[in-house]
Amino acid sequence: MRNIKLLKAGESTDWQFELANAITSVDELLYELGLEHIKNKPVRNSDFSLRVPRSFVNKMQKGDADDPLLMQVLPAASENALSGLTDPVGDLNAMATPGLLHKYKGRVLLVTTGACAIHCRYCFRRHFPYSSSNPRKNEWQRAIEYLRTHDDVHEVILSGGDPLVLDNKKLERLCTALEQIPHIQWLRIHTRLPVVLPSRIDNGLITLLQKLRFRITLVIHANHANELMRDELEALQRLAATGITLLNQSVLLKGVNDSAASLISLSKRLYQAGVLPYYLHMLDPVQGAMHFDVPRNRAIEIQNTLKQELPGFLVPRLVKEMPGEASKTAIFTI
Ligand SMILES: *Cc1c(COP(=O)(O)O)cnc(C)c1O
Ligand code: SF4
Repeated sequence: MRNIKLLKAGESTDWQFELANAITSVDELLYELGLEHIKNKPVRNSDFSLRVPRSFVNKMQKGDADDPLLMQVLPAASENALSGLTDPVGDLNAMATPGLLHKYKGRVLLVTTGACAIHCRYCFRRHFPYSSSNPRKNEWQRAIEYLRTHDDVHEVILSGGDPLVLDNKKLERLCTALEQIPHIQWLRIHTRLPVVLPSRIDNGLITLLQKLRFRITLVIHANHANELMRDELEALQRLAATGITLLNQSVLLKGVNDSAASLISLSKRLYQAGVLPYYLHMLDPVQGAMHFDVPRNRAIEIQNTLKQELPGFLVPRLVKEMPGEASKTAIFTI
């Protein structure tokens, strides 16, 4: 009888257990995949630690050292190269209040937490000084004040880290405060959790999304079709059923998805889950990730093939983020 409270429908905290129980050891990850023999290759002393949920590892091909999902999380020796920047997209210049980036007209980006369920080696925020830039202890007061006095802002983008690492109560508190600002009409959530921890899409979250007055867009982040298996498709279908708009952004990554065939499969898989491709980002020149860089000409070539092979709505916009520009910069094919 004592456990009944824990098992109340829809309030399972399975996802929090899964989050905490992620693999953080290179040796354990290689053991799980039967790849102990490549032990000398990865680095073990990175300041950006390994972190990967077990459900994501289960989607990797055992015995394949070049698995596109593994490549995204395994610290490579080439990370020690010193080329690249620590703040490649000029975030620190755009900080209006702690954790609030106002770079683009009409919309702001709120860094809700520094935490992520997974550590992606190519992450452009891997050097971001989260601890000094986060609103402290979820006190959003300064960001809320800023928004209240900027009535040209119509859209708030919850980002991070990953905003869905926050539990439903914290999210609700934040969203309720935002709802009280009348000129904010749209809410956007940038999250990788439907892809890397699909159990996060629990009933409490669905209920919260349904009751907010905002027009809501959820931008997921999948780079490869293998990331979207049964559980992920199911989570996305549950989100789609609430009537929110679902989009995907990817990063073009050498050795992961730098072929037209791979990106075509991804677009088709996304569409099957009710998600449309939005952006395909050129890698931000971040220190420690330059080995993922795909040259511009190659990117354009891939993009041209996508246009020939897919309906226009399944072709993501190829973009690059240039510090100081008023929007993402499209990479054109002419
Ligand atoms: C990418 C980004 C946005 C959103 O840009 P969209 O083109 O609307 O998707 C907003 N703020 C910041 C700081 C960004 O980096
Ligand atoms: S989930 Fe997003 S913010 Fe977090 S490490 Fe991956 S790319 Fe970076």
